[in-house]
Amino acid sequence: MMTPHKDRPQFYRPGQAVPVSGIYIAVHYQHRAQHEVVAIRGEEFPPCRVCKEEVRFYVARSVPHMTHDFDLTGPSSELTNERAKAAKKGEQ
Ligand SMILES: [Zn+2]
Repeated sequence: MMTPHKDRPQFYRPGQAVPVSGIYIAVHYQHRAQHEVVAIRGEEFPPCRVCKEEVRFYVARSVPHMTHDFDLTGPSSELTNERAKAAKKGEQ
């Protein structure tokens, strides 16, 4: 794993806002082994159906959400589309 460890992972609890989009490890209290989940920045970490507020989350790997990526915010103008078309024509 290339995860750079500092001291120990930052744990998040249900109700806290997701700071960065990515793969998180959900750590349950006793009833279930930890597992990966995807969380999107701005969402809230949910409580568990079984261990409720005892579940904790920490970042396994931060992954930018496609629409949060600087280059993938989507064409906001026709100009961008025209430019892309022109570039494609040029290739052929
Ligand atoms: Zn649980």
